[in-house]
Amino acid sequence: MVTEIEEQSTTRQKMIELLKSRPFDAGGLSRALGVKQREIERHLKNVAKTAQTLGFKWVIDPARCEGCGFKFTDRERTTKPSRCPKCRGEQILYATFFIEVPY
Ligand SMILES: [Zn+2]
Repeated sequence: MVTEIEEQSTTRQKMIELLKSRPFDAGGLSRALGVKQREIERHLKNVAKTAQTLGFKWVIDPARCEGCGFKFTDRERTTKPSRCPKCRGEQILYATFFIEVPY
């Protein structure tokens, strides 16, 4: 029987493996792993920390407005902002995450 803690660390391990191959947004990771997006978002901070501990570079491409290109760089949160403060557009692209392996 798999404990909840083991299951969580497996999810994080899988997230790291996926993010080393190409950038993903939270929704993409959710679909790829069959894990709820809320769970993914909960893991992201920890995954970032783990990746850095392993000597990898954690790269975030911030959420941005599809209409005017406004970037939500001030946001640490991994969830999608609902509306663009500049043009009031609602076509917001999710932040994507990537792990760069320096070798
Ligand atoms: Zn905009």
